[in-house]
Amino acid sequence: MAAFFAQQMDFIFFFYGLAFVLLGASCWAFGTRGHGGRFWLAIAAFGFLHGALEWLDLTALIIDDSPLFASARTVLMLASYLALLEAARSYAVENGARAPPQWAVLLPVIPIALIGYFEGSVLAGIATRYSVGFMGNLAVALVLLRQRRQTKGLERIFFTAAVTGFVLYAMATGLVVPAAGIWPADILNYDSFAGVSGIPIQLVRGVIACWISFSVWGIWGQRAAEQLESPQYTRYVAQQFTATLVAMTMILGCGWVLTQYLGEIYKRNVERAARGDTELISGRLGSEIARTEGMVDLLARSSAIAGGSLGAARDVLQRHVRAADASAGYLLDPSRSIRLAVTASGLALPPGQPGPPAATGGMVVFNGAARRLEYHVERVLPDGGSVVLQRALSSLESDLNRFDGTYFIADAQGTVLSSNRSDLRLRQLWPSSKSDAGSIFPQIIMGGAWTKLAGERVFAYQEATNIDNLSLVIVEPSREIFATRLLGIVITFFASLTALVYILGRERVVRDAVQAEKRLSLQATAQELRVKATTDPLTGLRNRRQFNQALGEEILRANRENTPLSLGIYDIDHFKAVNDRYGHAAGDEVLVQLARRVREQVRESDLLARWGGEEFVILLPGASIARAAEIAENIRKSIADAPVRGGIFVTASFGVAQYRPGETATQFLENADLALYRSKSEGRNRVTVGENGQSSSSAA
Ligand code: GH3
Ligand code: MG
Ligand code: MG
Repeated sequence: MAAFFAQQMDFIFFFYGLAFVLLGASCWAFGTRGHGGRFWLAIAAFGFLHGALEWLDLTALIIDDSPLFASARTVLMLASYLALLEAARSYAVENGARAPPQWAVLLPVIPIALIGYFEGSVLAGIATRYSVGFMGNLAVALVLLRQRRQTKGLERIFFTAAVTGFVLYAMATGLVVPAAGIWPADILNYDSFAGVSGIPIQLVRGVIACWISFSVWGIWGQRAAEQLESPQYTRYVAQQFTATLVAMTMILGCGWVLTQYLGEIYKRNVERAARGDTELISGRLGSEIARTEGMVDLLARSSAIAGGSLGAARDVLQRHVRAADASAGYLLDPSRSIRLAVTASGLALPPGQPGPPAATGGMVVFNGAARRLEYHVERVLPDGGSVVLQRALSSLESDLNRFDGTYFIADAQGTVLSSNRSDLRLRQLWPSSKSDAGSIFPQIIMGGAWTKLAGERVFAYQEATNIDNLSLVIVEPSREIFATRLLGIVITFFASLTALVYILGRERVVRDAVQAEKRLSLQATAQELRVKATTDPLTGLRNRRQFNQALGEEILRANRENTPLSLGIYDIDHFKAVNDRYGHAAGDEVLVQLARRVREQVRESDLLARWGGEEFVILLPGASIARAAEIAENIRKSIADAPVRGGIFVTASFGVAQYRPGETATQFLENADLALYRSKSEGRNRVTVGENGQSSSSAA
């Protein structure tokens, strides 16, 4: 499982980064929409910085890493954790607690920078994790725990989730560090974690990052719902949360599968290429050796070798050495000491010395110590001696040097006999007990395997040749596999982006709709209130308040423009008797019908209002007292002449007055009221003109 996940680091870094970028976005929305301001903005900074960091880790994995790039990433990591400390600090400040000044947050930079300078970026990174990484996450968890107290319901659950997330993240990011020779990094580190759990810590962190991101997203939704106080929006927020969770899980899941699939296609191509290459090379090696074997067979059957004179044997040997393009030929006696030896250059070696080592089992022996790949093929002669041709693989090797991958030919013990990487010759291919010098590959390769060569990820394919336990290993560079996988990651990224833009867009639409609806209903309420404030509920006429306001305005205008202004006031006669006789409800009905009747008679510019009880006023801008009296008389007639529904006849008494410049509204009203009083006292059902007019009264 660890091996599987080790191939997935790119995707893990991708979604880990994405989760934190989303955390940044939702905290940003929080901070700018004004809940808890700086705290959430600092967390947003953490999210963006740390998300970027994971994506840079991804870049380092795919493209290339360098010490400078690694240091830059350590700085970015430090900055992201300092943002967490700043978040906790600003929360304390906003809540009136004693907190260190802002610059104090930067203090950890000094020791970490010193460690980085003297010990390198790996230890600086470890120090960052142990100190600010661990503390920053715990501090934020504590702040969230405090905020949680003031929450209830779903929001509280999301807060609990966020607190848990930050505590877990504090442990995952602050305690599990790259392996290093210091305590406790030598015990608890990436390797030991992966070894024990079978999963890389980055996967755990990525999952926690998603968890945190969704918790905060949930808090944000709850707060937004709380603020809008709309059941529709609250329902939408719940749906949106579930939909986002499902959509993102699906997109990331499918994206992962797609990425894996794309990588697999590429991988299969690489594997096929490697297999083809090994076949080609081992075929060439085989035919090369077969040719030499054929030559040795010929030599062994030659009569000059089997029993001729030494001179004849030398001639034959010399000829075969040339023909086989061998480097040397030997005739050995049964004790394996040289009877005769010639080299390609025609040199004869002194006899009596020990010959080349015997092939145990096979007939071909490779001699790796010769700095170049040399082998010899031996045939035993009837007299117990043997004939040997020794040959260098130089022409094959020079062909192989042009091979774009790396190849190794290794003996049964795994020692490299030939390679186009000359620096790796005679090294061990894989770890063995016999040599403690570093091996080329970290493990034995069986068939094909993804492994590392000089720190670079490669695909290595091993094939046993049928020659003397030799094995052939072909190495194909595999950087492109990440490029192919990157395509899957990019597709996943854009799918996520599209989904999020859609979800956030929907949120906007729903929020706007809810807000527009709220605004409309507020407007309606305001309108209703306005009507209530100015209208008499029974008759639908303007009320006294509204009348007084209009009266004030008209008086100002009359004074300013010197135009006449009159007013009439009338009271229904013996209305108590109507109530007594027909009931209060019928009385109400009379008031309503009379109000309607009178309203039809007055002009738009005249203001008819209910003064109170069964008393009404009518303001007549531009009307002289004579005109006002005329209007009043018409109204009086219209009331008195026709019964209201139910056959009830009523009459009303009127008082009219004209405004006298300089008079107050009260004086003006009193004047009309006085006239009304006179109408009453003089027998009712009449119009009386106030003091300023010719004090006439007309009666029916
Ligand atoms: P007059 O004005 O001619 O002197 O006699 P009146 O009976 O109309 O005088 P008064 O002011 O004593 O009585 C007014 C009556 O009007 C008293 C009250 O019961 C009745 N009234 C006032 N407001 C309403 C109302 O909204 N509905 C009904 N049904 N009756 C009302
Ligand atoms: Mg009255
Ligand atoms: Mg009355």
